[in-house]
Amino acid sequence: MTKTCVVGAGRMGSALARALLAEGIETRVWNRSPEKVAPLVAAGAHTAESLAEAVAASDVVIVNVIDYAAADALLRMPAVERALAGKVVVQLTSGSPRQAREAGRWAAERGIAYLDGAIMATPNFIGGAETTILYSGMRQAFERHRDVLRVFGGNGVFVGEDAGHASALDTGLLTQMWGKLFGTLQALAVVRAEGIGLEAYARYMRDFQPVVDAATDDLIARVGEGRWRGDAATLATIEAHYSAFHHLLAVGDEHGLDRVLPAALDGLFKAALAAGHAADDFAALMRFIE
Ligand code: NAD
Repeated sequence: MTKTCVVGAGRMGSALARALLAEGIETRVWNRSPEKVAPLVAAGAHTAESLAEAVAASDVVIVNVIDYAAADALLRMPAVERALAGKVVVQLTSGSPRQAREAGRWAAERGIAYLDGAIMATPNFIGGAETTILYSGMRQAFERHRDVLRVFGGNGVFVGEDAGHASALDTGLLTQMWGKLFGTLQALAVVRAEGIGLEAYARYMRDFQPVVDAATDDLIARVGEGRWRGDAATLATIEAHYSAFHHLLAVGDEHGLDRVLPAALDGLFKAALAAGHAADDFAALMRFIE
């Protein structure tokens, strides 16, 4: 049976270790400060005198520390590097695509199988049947250890052999999330300033969501096909969007709200309008981002 080791027992690392233990998978846990390991040992995890020892006793080494600098410093210690030869590293620490590719090269040069994963969830979702984790890197390692990886999330997806692709998709998806979360903050500021209850707002937002989702899907299709010119299928031109959008700055100014977010979007709209894109599709704004 596959033996695993979890490097890093923070919020996420502990959730990963607990998911393995819940499935009865032999798991060693190592953390910089040993006190975080104690509750996991109580739940059935093994410990080790050193990280090198924990790695030597495992087939699959799951890494989840704060960032790549911390992960690299641990994995590149000579004794750890030697112990890793012939094993699989599953790097679940958040990083950039470039950092992931560089780690993939480092691993390949040392005979270490490497998978880079992006956890699209918070710790409370670990182990859920629908939880998504994206993996890129060595396909063979993904196929071989699918059963272990499935323990973290039922929707474990291999997204490509370029080790950077899981991180790149993570960045894209989180950008979408931040767009929504920052948009929500700005919207709530307007709604509160106008004396409307947040519960009522939340209800109308849910009602409006299908329209936003359809516009997002349409935008992705148009950008993919390069259809940025206004045409019969255009849902709303840039001019139509702007006639509604420019109120956001006006309402914000009336109530003394911060301008930084709306001003950034206003700048993009104005650049597109000045370049003659008033009658074009919203997709034309992509020309001012890429
Ligand atoms: P955390 O702060 O709870 O844990 C961080 C861990 O990193 C701890 O175990 C700590 O001991 C270790 N660490 C920090 N600096 C270190 C160093 N220099 N050397 C060795 N170990 C060091 O953070 P977390 O929420 O568990 O996040 C861990 C990773 O998982 C991050 O890369 C984070 O971006 C990613 N992640 C977290 C979430 C989440 O919702 N918490 C979701 C997806 C991805």
